[in-house]
Amino acid sequence: MLKKIDHIGIAVHSIAEARRFYEQTLGLVCEKVEEVPSQKVRTAFFSLGETHIELLEPMDDSSPIARFLEKRGEGFHHIAYASDDINAQLDNARSTGCALINEQPVPGAGGKQIAFLHPKSTGGVLTEICSSSKP
Ligand code: ZN
Repeated sequence: MLKKIDHIGIAVHSIAEARRFYEQTLGLVCEKVEEVPSQKVRTAFFSLGETHIELLEPMDDSSPIARFLEKRGEGFHHIAYASDDINAQLDNARSTGCALINEQPVPGAGGKQIAFLHPKSTGGVLTEICSSSKP
């Protein structure tokens, strides 16, 4: 079952540049900057209540975020829902005919398990399911 919107992912060329808006203009606090090698991204998390803003910066040119930035530029990248059972959530997505980018959960930031649903099945919104607690 989905529990909440865990975070909203925003693609940026540079966390060092982009964080100034979130810190200075919006007054949010950066919890941590973390590299996620499985996705070839560097992430920065800002807390806002129960939800977070996740800035995503490519670790190299082969990163999916690098390709995203090339095609679409900086901006909204994905929405992430926290689930108390990511495997059941993926089974359910599969059973409803939803295309999955990750057939199995992969390691994400913060020690969470994550999986992406394909935007062609989600009305154009790249959708992440993440585990709501650390495994
Ligand atoms: Zn995410």
